[in-house]
Amino acid sequence: MIANVGAGKANAWYLEVASGVLIDAPSVSLERLGNVSYVLLTHSHVGHVESLAALAQRYRPIVIGNPIELAFLQDVERLAKYIRTVAKRAGADLDAVALAKEIHVPPLNARVYRMGSGNADLLEADVEVLPCGGHSWGSTCYRLGGVVFVGDLGRPWVSIRSLTSTLALLRGLDAVAYPGHGEPVEARELALRVQGELRNTARKYLECIANGPPVETADCVFGRTAEPYAYFRALEETLAFIGLFVEEGVVKVSGSGTWKVSRVR
Ligand SMILES: [Zn+2]
Repeated sequence: MIANVGAGKANAWYLEVASGVLIDAPSVSLERLGNVSYVLLTHSHVGHVESLAALAQRYRPIVIGNPIELAFLQDVERLAKYIRTVAKRAGADLDAVALAKEIHVPPLNARVYRMGSGNADLLEADVEVLPCGGHSWGSTCYRLGGVVFVGDLGRPWVSIRSLTSTLALLRGLDAVAYPGHGEPVEARELALRVQGELRNTARKYLECIANGPPVETADCVFGRTAEPYAYFRALEETLAFIGLFVEEGVVKVSGSGTWKVSRVR
């Protein structure tokens, strides 16, 4: 009933119903796909949407995704603005326009439905749309009965507060989670795994956190990375943990453009 048709690093789950529902559009094996009437996007990171434009061209599906993720996917100026804000806050040097052009997807030849939550009626399937932020701002889970498609919950994260809410949601679900990477697993089990990873990562940040701009903490956690996309994602996560530590009273942040972090305890 549910097949993985991903042909690259990420999973593409395909519901083998007559209308054809595909979850995410990484690189896929076309010969294993029947009809595709719907594409449900868990988030818009490059590795999960690389075949979206081609699939839209070929099948003319309805594409459903979170409004924030679709904006980042389609609006290159908005994406560039966000990248610039992250780089500026972190005190890092990054060509936001070049990176945004590299990772955005051209306009889709498809109907696009923006949904942050609620229910979507997909002919043969009634899907519950659940906010699952943390890995990206608009990350979305899709639940069909005892199955929930969760996309990517792993590092690097953009918001620890959202991630914590997502893990609470998954802990309470009696469902098998189909992730964007790896094998299906009980939703509760997946939540526990990510919770463990979160604890270890927070510890690493506490060791690394430095007085000064966030980029210094990022360099300590990730090492120097030359690849702009990986660098950007590292900066996003660093800001997320600094935000968490501000809430916990571990650090203070001052400065209106670039954050100046100072350790309190
Ligand atoms: Zn991702």
